[in-house]
Amino acid sequence: MDVKVNECTLRLVKGDITERKVDAIVNAANNKLLPGGGVCGAIHKAAGEGLAKECARIGFCETGDAVITKGYNLPAKYVIHTVGPVYSGSKRDAFLLSNCYKNSLKLAVKNSLNSIAFPSISTGIFGYPVEKASKVALSTIVDFLKANGKPSLVEMVLFSDSDFEVYRQVLEGLLK
Ligand code: ADP
Repeated sequence: MDVKVNECTLRLVKGDITERKVDAIVNAANNKLLPGGGVCGAIHKAAGEGLAKECARIGFCETGDAVITKGYNLPAKYVIHTVGPVYSGSKRDAFLLSNCYKNSLKLAVKNSLNSIAFPSISTGIFGYPVEKASKVALSTIVDFLKANGKPSLVEMVLFSDSDFEVYRQVLEGLLK
């Protein structure tokens, strides 16, 4: 599903983010930037050990912040690593999650990247309910594109049919 926002394309995709041929894919990382499970484990596995080495040199990323590395064996040229909040039920969760999307998009623009693909940050091991997280993710992306007019392609890559359906409904509601 594609929608246009300020000349840019916002696309919902059902699939595996490691296969996306974009300038950067976003990793739902942990503070120590270690290869873990979930989407992070899949990205490290597909990228090869060069990625873990570069992450180890960087060493740390604050929750809500983002750092950039090369993509190594991935089809994507770069990986932007951002650390989502572990869901706690407090108001700060949404602030931190929104920062993940905003700071990743800022880093993409700063590095002149035209296309970026996000997974559904924090909604796996970090326990953020997907109905709530999808509203934060999509509204942050739409606001950023309205304000900046770039990057020209932003993908949200959803791993399951049910997540795709939640994101689709929320996006339709947002654009009404
Ligand atoms: P977090 O720790 O931020 O919650 P997870 O990796 O546990 O991160 O999950 C984030 C989301 O990524 C979940 O919706 C999960 O289903 C999804 N996911 C897992 N593997 C992949 C993949 N290869 N491509 C895209 N999304 C994935």
